[in-house]
Amino acid sequence: MTTATIPDVVLHDGTTIPQLGFGTLGIPGDAGGTETGDAETARVVALAIEAGYRHIDSAQGYLTETGVGRAVRASGLPREDFYVTTKLANDNHRPDDVRRSFEQTMTNLGLPYLDLFLMHWPLPTRYDGDYVATWRAMTDLLADGRVRSVGVSNFQPAHLERIIGETGIVPVINQVELHPRFANTAVRTACEQHRIAIEAWSPLAQGRYLDDPVIGKIAAAHGRTPAQVILRWHLQRGNIVFPKSTDPQRMAANLAVLDFTLDDAERDAITALDRGEDGRNGPNPDTFDWIPGQA
Ligand code: NDP
Repeated sequence: MTTATIPDVVLHDGTTIPQLGFGTLGIPGDAGGTETGDAETARVVALAIEAGYRHIDSAQGYLTETGVGRAVRASGLPREDFYVTTKLANDNHRPDDVRRSFEQTMTNLGLPYLDLFLMHWPLPTRYDGDYVATWRAMTDLLADGRVRSVGVSNFQPAHLERIIGETGIVPVINQVELHPRFANTAVRTACEQHRIAIEAWSPLAQGRYLDDPVIGKIAAAHGRTPAQVILRWHLQRGNIVFPKSTDPQRMAANLAVLDFTLDDAERDAITALDRGEDGRNGPNPDTFDWIPGQA
């Protein structure tokens, strides 16, 4: 269990979110959607809770909601101690499916309320390009009281401008790919203009650049690991992060980033590793159109 307190970020709707959490992509592996997969997710998330994580990032598409809910309930801690996020799957964009799948999500989680519901991808080339109707249906859920905040994920500046312009409702968060090789600067600027907090997915770039010499030198100077230095860089830039690990030692190490500080030169050296679009590992949200079960 970590001893330092994880800082909270205040969102523009007045709610708060722990800046450092735990990601669940890929935890159930091939067993996703089965009792074995749910048990594996619950086991790993219970380890994360034991390590000190209280903010957990899930998604309908990860098939981790049932396991996350199970681990939260089994922890014996009050529901209010946790911050739970999940995301609307790409096959649930039609307004009726937003409502139906939200009910399924709440059943899966088995929790009285959800902290944050995100639209996972904008899918601008699907559903007649109408991610605005999807967004409106998600914001309508706020009246229900069982979801506290709504936001988006993988939204480019134009997607943000469109939903804000057409509905007047600003997402609290935009969860996007962001790590030292991909600073995602245009999205960052757009989010700052609208007071939208940034969540950095794949904050460690899934471990791809842990051997980077610039990061290695800074890590050696602080007696830390490269992963810890990268997570520290995110936190000092104000990003919200939730590294994923199934390994208890890495879970603990990824939380132990609150008791050292990178100086300006170190931060700048890491920020200078940005390669623009060439640094992107995941799909480009302008063209990504994957829907489960469809070509
Ligand atoms: P991360 O950048 O968190 O990296 C996870 C990988 O790095 C795993 O393979 C893990 O392996 C390894 N790892 C974790 N900690 C360490 C460490 N200290 N040292 C060395 N290796 C380490 O990648 P993710 O893609 O999982 O991103 C984090 C979360 O972001 C996801 O789990 C998900 O919740 C969210 N996400 C959202 C997306 C979106 O479209 N909105 C897209 C992708 C992710 P091991 O488990 O073996 O430790």
